Amino acid sequence: MARKKLIAGNWKMFSLGQSARELAAAVIQITPSDDRVEVTVCPPFPWLATVAEVLKGSRVTLGAQNVHYAKEGAFTGEVSPQMLVDVGCKYAIVAHSERRHGFREPDFFINQKVRSALAAGLHVIFCIGELLAEREANQTDAIIDWQLATGLHKVPADQMSRVVIAYEPVWAIGTGKVASPDQAQTAHLHIRKEIAKLYGEEIAQGVLIQYGGSVKADNAVEILRQPDVDGALVGGASLKVEQFLPIVKAAV
Ligand code: PEP
Repeated sequence: MARKKLIAGNWKMFSLGQSARELAAAVIQITPSDDRVEVTVCPPFPWLATVAEVLKGSRVTLGAQNVHYAKEGAFTGEVSPQMLVDVGCKYAIVAHSERRHGFREPDFFINQKVRSALAAGLHVIFCIGELLAEREANQTDAIIDWQLATGLHKVPADQMSRVVIAYEPVWAIGTGKVASPDQAQTAHLHIRKEIAKLYGEEIAQGVLIQYGGSVKADNAVEILRQPDVDGALVGGASLKVEQFLPIVKAAV
């Protein structure tokens, strides 16, 4: 069966209550009624409940930008998987490079988050990707393999249908430098082969692998046309509906 395409808008630390509501309402308007495409939005934590209200009854799904591994406890400032489920999230982004590198989240911590989020019933958008220096040193495949092996450690095969991989070369995030369609396809194919090694061919063929890193109106069509690119994780261009629209359209 053909894989669907998942377009996710990562709003990062942008928007206030009113603009979040307006953006969510606008995203509903541009979302096609086509089962082959899913659109999800990931607002900042304070607007999850507000945006969930706006999205009710629509085809647009809700995601969080981060999650903690514990169910509850003395973890000041953190949000548990169960809280995200309760507020109406389908997805949680884990290991976005701004957390992996910016906040130095280590591999074992990322793995705990992936497993707890899945155990709570969430779908996980698990981000991987190399730094520029790593690409230049020809370490891209090794980094991808390591991040997959550590991030998915002890993730049972029957939960893999709720794992989305977001390949986001760190040098392309928020920089305006986009991976070429060829570079994206090569990395995605490598990821799929690596997942096949870990979980077998059938699971690998079903896993959605999104590309992320400066996806915009002018590059979305070519990137999304690649056979192993199953959608996009979009930062900057998800904040304005007129910029998000052509990316959603490119997925149809
Ligand atoms: C992201 O936030 O995951 C991202 C890819 O950002 P941008 O599209 O702005 O590069």
